[in-house]
Amino acid sequence: MRARIASISLAVALVSTTALAQSSPAATTPTQLPRTAVPSHYSINLAPDADNLRFSAESALTLSITTPTRELTLNAADLSFTLARITREGAPETLNGTITTDAAAQTVTVRFPSELPAGNYQLDFAYTGTINQQANGLFALDYTDGSGADKRALFTQFEAPDARRVVPSFDEPSYKATFDLSVRVPAGQMAVSNMPVISTAAQNDGTSIVTFDTTPTMSTYLLFLGMGELERRTTQVGNTEVGVVTGLGNSGKAQFALDASAAILPWYNDYFGTAFPLPKLDNVAGPGQSQFFSAMENWGAIFTFERALLVDPASTSETNRRRVYEIVAHEMAHQWFGDLVTMAWWDDLWLNEGFASWMATKVSDVMNPEWEMLLTRVDGREAAMSLDAYTTTHAVVQRIDTVEEVNQAFDAITYQKGEAVIAMLESYAGEDVWRSGIRSYMQQHAFGNTVTNDLWNAVEAAGASGLRNMAERFTNQPGIPLVSVNDARCVNGNTELSLQQGEFSRDAKAAKDSAPLRWPVPIRAAVNGNAESRLVLDGTATLTLAGCGAYVINSGQAGYFRSLYPAANITALADSFTSLPAMDQGGLLADNWELGIGGYQPMAQALTLVEAVPVSASDAILATLPGYYADLYGIFDGNDATQTRLLAVASAKLKPVLDRIGYDARTGEGPQVPLLRQSLIQTLGSMGEPALLAEAGRRYAALATDASALDGPLKFTWLGIVAKYADQSTWNDLRQRANAATTSLDKQQLFALLGRSVDAALAQQALDLALTDEPGKTTSAAIVGTVAGNHDRLAVDFVLANREQYESLIDVSARSGALADLGGGSADPAMADTLDAYADQYLTADSRPTTDRAIAAIRERAASRARLRPEIEAWLAR
Ligand SMILES: [Zn+2]
Repeated sequence: MRARIASISLAVALVSTTALAQSSPAATTPTQLPRTAVPSHYSINLAPDADNLRFSAESALTLSITTPTRELTLNAADLSFTLARITREGAPETLNGTITTDAAAQTVTVRFPSELPAGNYQLDFAYTGTINQQANGLFALDYTDGSGADKRALFTQFEAPDARRVVPSFDEPSYKATFDLSVRVPAGQMAVSNMPVISTAAQNDGTSIVTFDTTPTMSTYLLFLGMGELERRTTQVGNTEVGVVTGLGNSGKAQFALDASAAILPWYNDYFGTAFPLPKLDNVAGPGQSQFFSAMENWGAIFTFERALLVDPASTSETNRRRVYEIVAHEMAHQWFGDLVTMAWWDDLWLNEGFASWMATKVSDVMNPEWEMLLTRVDGREAAMSLDAYTTTHAVVQRIDTVEEVNQAFDAITYQKGEAVIAMLESYAGEDVWRSGIRSYMQQHAFGNTVTNDLWNAVEAAGASGLRNMAERFTNQPGIPLVSVNDARCVNGNTELSLQQGEFSRDAKAAKDSAPLRWPVPIRAAVNGNAESRLVLDGTATLTLAGCGAYVINSGQAGYFRSLYPAANITALADSFTSLPAMDQGGLLADNWELGIGGYQPMAQALTLVEAVPVSASDAILATLPGYYADLYGIFDGNDATQTRLLAVASAKLKPVLDRIGYDARTGEGPQVPLLRQSLIQTLGSMGEPALLAEAGRRYAALATDASALDGPLKFTWLGIVAKYADQSTWNDLRQRANAATTSLDKQQLFALLGRSVDAALAQQALDLALTDEPGKTTSAAIVGTVAGNHDRLAVDFVLANREQYESLIDVSARSGALADLGGGSADPAMADTLDAYADQYLTADSRPTTDRAIAAIRERAASRARLRPEIEAWLAR
């Protein structure tokens, strides 16, 4: 999942094993169902009634009873049953069962009049269920088409455990089975699922029964159905028909995603050593959004919200265009890592997500080297560390017992720390050994389930000796190693480093200083321009580097740790900054910043380093600078005088860069210039830089006579500035533009802008608007989210006062963490108290960890701001 699809003859070969293919959880795999039966095949007929948000269904489940029993328990949620009966293979009689559902356990239990001996059975259900309006189970997305007509499309979202909202099932990843799906489709609509359509039967009432081919053996959470007024574009790549499916008239905007898929597929087929096993791979776009995810890797039918898949030259920024590529790559990587080989249980969710994230960065870099995608790993590492630096963090591999714990697991530790650790292990093993391990892992476990250990076995067998110890310590133990250079001396033309491993922490620094956890830390160190020396640091060590001068100890930034240098080395690195590889420049800036914020070194050291980055630095590195100034600016929230001085400092550094590259794209400019331009305009504009406010106002005014005046990659960047500083009449005008928007993509973004205002009265109007039907079911929560950006207290109090209504506006999976998302950026201890009181009242031990993490960060932020403000003011007065 992310914030996100071959030859007929091969598919036939796969399904011929249908009757026998069955997968039961190993004795060590957690399960919430009795271990009495194992499914092998589901046959499902669905009849959705989209107008009334209901569906009726019949299912036939082929299963094997392994232990004689009088009752069977399966997962089911929000389903109403009218029939359950069982027939033994080869036996004439059918037994009707009595049905009991347990809403809390999300199960249905069928009890039969007599004991069922071990053997093969068919279990039939007839039932009805609900079509939701948020993305769980079978759900509806409403939109207006290009002509302004109201439309409704249906899709499914089954991860984490929501197949049970549509099919009574053994809804756990290790119960793999094959699926036959057929669905009643209204006239004029198209239906899409994991496999190609094999028949369409017209009915007397004008509808059609569409039947899809049998899937390969797979987990329930990967089953998919989409239907509506859709269109499909395809291209043939080897044995695979690669497609995009969109609302009518939108497939042109999906051409970029189609081209990306077609380019990536052959590379993945080769990398994994196992060809994509389904006959087709679609990427299906849905209007609307979720507060939980952007895209889902349903096998052969990836679902992605339009805003994460469509590219519209009139409004899509270059940053978003690259994000679309990376999301396509992420979901496609899951077609192997997750779909073909699946974690046995949610404890190992990171195996799916960490791997797909790592692979997406890798393939995006291979296919588009000019994007310098590997640099994004520094951002990923920082995102992971922003959770991992607190005692409330968790290990990459974590115990999962409940549905809520699964929902909470989709976080930066699972994704970004997962990616960082895999990148580190690949760097340790070497690219070729690592890939050969992955290939044998795929071959060995195809159509099966694994635990993390299976991956280490495969990579060690491929030649990465000693990898397991490092891998296990970084995945089973939470936290961040800190490597300090205690001493560095130049001896006979070489540098001798004395290294010590500690632990980096934001909220328990003293405790971690005296008793750090231990990791085997892979050091790759070099004096700038000289050969690299390697060492696995276990506690303390000395390391000799060739040459003398500025040095780095995490060369290439593949190691998941912080590097703490003597001040003299920071100065030397600053002096030779642009001669360092870009990756190390980015890593050095990020590390020093956080070491300053965390109190490990004077903040002035980080500030001086940012100031020392020359305007001749690469565009990609310059694009990271505005973020540091924005951080500083945020530290002085509520202190206008210092913010004004900070704006002057940021302008002095950044405005000349913007003047050089200009407000608009120029022919022949470098590939990273669009990102740099967006970063500069967004940050300086957000701080209220007068020239940018004037330019935003001028561009907005031009809309009055030319509706396309703002079209281009920075459309929403400029609009964001306008919205932030809007007065009532501009706000009203933006609202009118949101209602008049002709695409759901524009509509959502325009409505979300209404929440951006710094004016509290306008922010309140945006909140009130969010509770009406005007923005659309899935856009309202986004408005509340943008309000929280400038007015977190207002947004949190509003949600608490309208809790139930707000919860109906977000997906079930996002509910427990929603308030923490809104208030989590605060530095006000009172906000931490509010979140704590909310968690005490409404959350449970398993649903509150996300909130506890937000609380810890708020308290620490408050404490560190008190320390940092005088330090930064002293630096400003220097
Ligand atoms: Zn994913």
